[in-house]
Amino acid sequence: ATDKSDVPDSKSLEVLMTKFGHRQFRPYQWQIISSILKHKRDNCAIMTTGYGKSLCYQFPAVFSGGVTLVISPLISLMEDQVLSLTIANIPACLLGTAQKNTAQTIADILKNKFSLVYLTPEFCTGEFGISLLKDMNSSLQITLIAVDEAHCVSSWGHDFRHSYRQLGMLKTLLPEVPVLAVTATATERVKNDIIKSLKLLNPQLVGTGFDRPNLYYAARPKGSSLFDDLKPLMTRKNGKWGFDGSTIIYCITRKDTANLSEVLQNHQVSCLPYHAGLSLAVRKETHEQFVKDKIPVIIATIAFGMGIDKPDIRNVIHYGSSGSIESYYQEVGRAGRDGLPSKCVAFFSSQDFATHGFLIEKGQNSNRRAELLSTMKQYLNSRKCRRAFLVSYFEGKADLSMPERSDCCDNCLAKTAPSDQSIYEGVDERDFYDFTEDAVKYLSAISALGGKYGHGMYIMFVRGSKSSKIPDRLRSHPSFGTGKNKSDDWWKAIANFLDLKHYLKQAKSKTASSFSFSVFDVSDEGLKFLNTPPDSRKLLEQPTLG
Ligand code: ADP
Repeated sequence: ATDKSDVPDSKSLEVLMTKFGHRQFRPYQWQIISSILKHKRDNCAIMTTGYGKSLCYQFPAVFSGGVTLVISPLISLMEDQVLSLTIANIPACLLGTAQKNTAQTIADILKNKFSLVYLTPEFCTGEFGISLLKDMNSSLQITLIAVDEAHCVSSWGHDFRHSYRQLGMLKTLLPEVPVLAVTATATERVKNDIIKSLKLLNPQLVGTGFDRPNLYYAARPKGSSLFDDLKPLMTRKNGKWGFDGSTIIYCITRKDTANLSEVLQNHQVSCLPYHAGLSLAVRKETHEQFVKDKIPVIIATIAFGMGIDKPDIRNVIHYGSSGSIESYYQEVGRAGRDGLPSKCVAFFSSQDFATHGFLIEKGQNSNRRAELLSTMKQYLNSRKCRRAFLVSYFEGKADLSMPERSDCCDNCLAKTAPSDQSIYEGVDERDFYDFTEDAVKYLSAISALGGKYGHGMYIMFVRGSKSSKIPDRLRSHPSFGTGKNKSDDWWKAIANFLDLKHYLKQAKSKTASSFSFSVFDVSDEGLKFLNTPPDSRKLLEQPTLG
């Protein structure tokens, strides 16, 4: 049973101070640690980023003089932890990578020289790993088995790893050793999967909740100029543009990070790109410069961020949609770990979803990943409280007992003060707007062009562009130039809106033989709308907040 009045004893606090340099346990840390040390209890802990998961599994071994096994999916993260533990005089090692002196390491493990042994999931479920675990169990006291990033066991999560599937055998192999499963992102369904897959016995369930009250959330469609999009988030000091405080800008592709860096650098914004294609030395240097406040802005793919321990990141901007709410939440989770107000702003376009769609089609588990992407799309286009959206997504409850606030997201803010940066000129975003006419114009433009192009071409067509890309014979088409009076951005928003309504589908381009991720045609549903007699055709919606 959990003892809520349980308070840390002086010996534990002393070890915490001398070995880890902290004065106090955070409440959930102690709840987990004491259940492991006193009751050998299994735990499933969902803790927001920055709460301090690693202490929960590092402390018990250090305190008891035994050894803890830690399984994590990322070698680089484990290497970081082994390094920082070694520096702090806590002996730790890593097994499962292609290192040379494995035999020596194993001999030392069996002499109880290490408090923490990090293992890749492949290593500890392999034949060699299993026999080592058996040897360890008969000659040492294994205090705990910790499974970090435990959401990886579930195919309902965003980062399913096959190698994690086998980890349930650890409980069979070492039934008396408590298991701690930890993650920052798990829905109810993923949590249940973790408990089942890892065979946890009557686990203590710990959750810090998913609300991050100091984060402000916003989302808006990308406009035609990247710099103009970002400008409202920047300030100008001594003639130079910049963000207030450390900032990460996430892009979907490496190419995007290069483009964005160039645009910002051209405006004298001090920034550096970061992605897995850069050399390790360059990545390390960039990481370090960011953490030491020498460079304020990093423009990165999601390769950047794992293991970043920087408490004062003020902005996490996505220039391009994430593939799932889970990854979005994990990425924005890097903002404001010090508890001070920080912003999480996402810019998106229908092209982003197409790019993800393309990646999903090529990868595994595609149905599930398409579902996750579609929820991300809903988040971005939502007109309701974004904070409530995120929290209820993870907690699996539509009805939240969170106090309402007006400053937690763009949507709540707009209820009290209408946005002044709207792309929808003259349209009050709180009202319903009749999109019928523009939807018909746009869908007709797609039909006129045979559904073989991307939105760029359709927008040129509907706006009556003089570009030579539009064949002369089509200039006399009745749909050509019907949308002259509205901006490029307006039509991009319409395209996105029609996509969300499932009025568009992916199609084959003029030249390609297979479906392309950026070519759109009118879907069956779109055709149904287009073919409905004008009198009974109506598209009345609240526009997306811009
Ligand atoms: P997580 O993995 O949950 O994101 P970490 O284990 O990396 O978090 O810890 C996040 C930060 O919190 C680290 O800088 C760590 O030193 C600090 N921290 C952890 N526990 C405590 C504590 N009890 N008191 C003060 N700081 C702590």
